[in-house]
Amino acid sequence: MNEEVTAELHCSHCDHETIHTLVYAGRLLVSTTCQTCNSQVKHEAIDLRLHYLKDLEHRISTKPRRLWRGFWSAPFSQMVSFPKKFMSQPKKIWKEIKAILGR
Ligand SMILES: [Zn+2]
Repeated sequence: MNEEVTAELHCSHCDHETIHTLVYAGRLLVSTTCQTCNSQVKHEAIDLRLHYLKDLEHRISTKPRRLWRGFWSAPFSQMVSFPKKFMSQPKKIWKEIKAILGR
């Protein structure tokens, strides 16, 4: 059974932050759909990319670690509140996440 949540993410089509529908199958992010332009991105290999994401975590030294630890240990439940906190993160980190999730 898939679960859907909404989150504010950067849409490469709209080229700005829009509300997206995130579809999860268990802990796996299956797809994100921009609610503005309706473009959908599939995330079939998202688990492999987590290795890279964990690497990225190590490079983030200026923000509280517990934010990230909470995110990685419970990606689904944290996803609802994460983007709001995340908007205060440096733009370049946001860009890296987008590069991972956005294709
Ligand atoms: Zn869009």
